[in-house]
Amino acid sequence: MSMIYAQIILPVVMGVLLLGWIIFCTAQLIRQSKKAIAAMNITCQVKCETCGTAYEVSAAEFTRSFMSKSFHTTKTEFKSGVFINRRRYYSFAKKFHCPVCGKKRYAQVLNINEISNLTQKPSMTIGIRWLIIMIIGGLLLMGFFSIPMHFVNKAAANHAEKLRQEQFEELREQYF
Ligand SMILES: [Zn+2]
Repeated sequence: MSMIYAQIILPVVMGVLLLGWIIFCTAQLIRQSKKAIAAMNITCQVKCETCGTAYEVSAAEFTRSFMSKSFHTTKTEFKSGVFINRRRYYSFAKKFHCPVCGKKRYAQVLNINEISNLTQKPSMTIGIRWLIIMIIGGLLLMGFFSIPMHFVNKAAANHAEKLRQEQFEELREQYF
């Protein structure tokens, strides 16, 4: 009986761990790209949607703001052997602290396409790096689990074979 439990539990545990690993890698990817962008020497020119005041925010402040609304198109380009998704923003707004309103208000980021072009390469490098880490870690995890799973499956197969033999013996005793 315990063998059947192990046969069910092992893949479930592996699945949960794999999912956790994927979530961890995605969170790291987002965190590190934000950190890389925040460290860049970019100034964002923004304009408050409520009062119309134009002001500047730092790259760090730009990445700190979560609320955003945008309108963009994505064009896939083939450049130096790889496909690149190039995003063109028509409008991009984020919530920043407006110095005139004295509150967090949506502000249009005027130079969003420039920011997007500058940040694309570093975020792509980080993205590829974490994708590779994610795949290698996932394969290692599956390889690690394949060892006990192999033995459990073998033991279960042996057990089933033994049961069949016993049933056969029983039948033979009954009829012959
Ligand atoms: Zn304002």
